[in-house]
Amino acid sequence: MGEDLEKLKQQLPLLDYLRCQNWTGRPASQGPEFVGLCPLHSETRPSFYVNARKNLFYCHGCGQGGDLIRFVELSQHLSFRQSVTYLEQQSALVDHEAVLRQASAFYQQQLDRYPEARRYLERRGVRDPALIQELQIGYAPGGSLRRHLLARGYSLDLLRRTGLVNPQGRDALYQRLVFPCCQDSRIVNFYGRSIGTGFAHRFLPGAKGDLVAWESVRQFPSVILVEGMFDLVVLRQAGFRNATCSLGTHLTADQFQQLCDRPRTVYLTFDVDANGSGQQAAQALAHRLRAQGITTRRVLLPPGHDPNSFFVQGGDPRQFQSLLEAAPL
Ligand SMILES: [Zn+2]
Repeated sequence: MGEDLEKLKQQLPLLDYLRCQNWTGRPASQGPEFVGLCPLHSETRPSFYVNARKNLFYCHGCGQGGDLIRFVELSQHLSFRQSVTYLEQQSALVDHEAVLRQASAFYQQQLDRYPEARRYLERRGVRDPALIQELQIGYAPGGSLRRHLLARGYSLDLLRRTGLVNPQGRDALYQRLVFPCCQDSRIVNFYGRSIGTGFAHRFLPGAKGDLVAWESVRQFPSVILVEGMFDLVVLRQAGFRNATCSLGTHLTADQFQQLCDRPRTVYLTFDVDANGSGQQAAQALAHRLRAQGITTRRVLLPPGHDPNSFFVQGGDPRQFQSLLEAAPL
């Protein structure tokens, strides 16, 4: 038990934990001490000290002090045992997040090493290097992520639990362009788009996250909603900064709530496919959004088109703007 607790405290340093909880401290001296307002009692002058080397805190205001577990007991009003359980969960979350971030960095590095990935992007009209970087677009060649992450000390068990590696022990994503899916700015999943003959697209197991780039889009009084990442990219390239993407026509409850978080107009710009499924989905969604007081308009692309093909086949921003203006309520 004692050893496990030491390991837990090493994995999750007190200062890191406090910063995750939005505590801000400044160096108190040349040494390893930081000082800031006490999270345990209300005060205006900082008297809460953290020693980053010893992993201990002490508050001169309320007289409380101790290690990370003591801090969780006091701040969350938990017993010792409950605090340990809570911290074990936090630590697993931190690992999970870290490994997804590492995977994303790896995928992004691969993009320049595989000309076939670049060619596919070009074919889909994706050109802007700044946007590729902003959306953290990468490439999963397959057969190399597992080795890369194991060499960085992540366990095979963790890689399996994240879904990055399948139960047979192989990279789950191969020959796919990869887009990270985020929730509250943290990567929670990857969307992989096949550049070959494999099944067109897939996610890793788990939630698909927020509407794409929602933090930068939510400020706009009207937003353009598309279903595919390549639709989003061409719209952003064409100057439509208020475009976001739900990664499929079925919105999760969280994504739906995001669209409803204030009064706004939503331009639903789903595919106009032969079987009509895109437009049916748009109609059903419009109905649900209107029930929440959101204004909806259905953008009617020429038959057989999605926003991506519209721009790739020569459509320009002015023409798309006309479609927005003509969109029926
Ligand atoms: Zn205090």
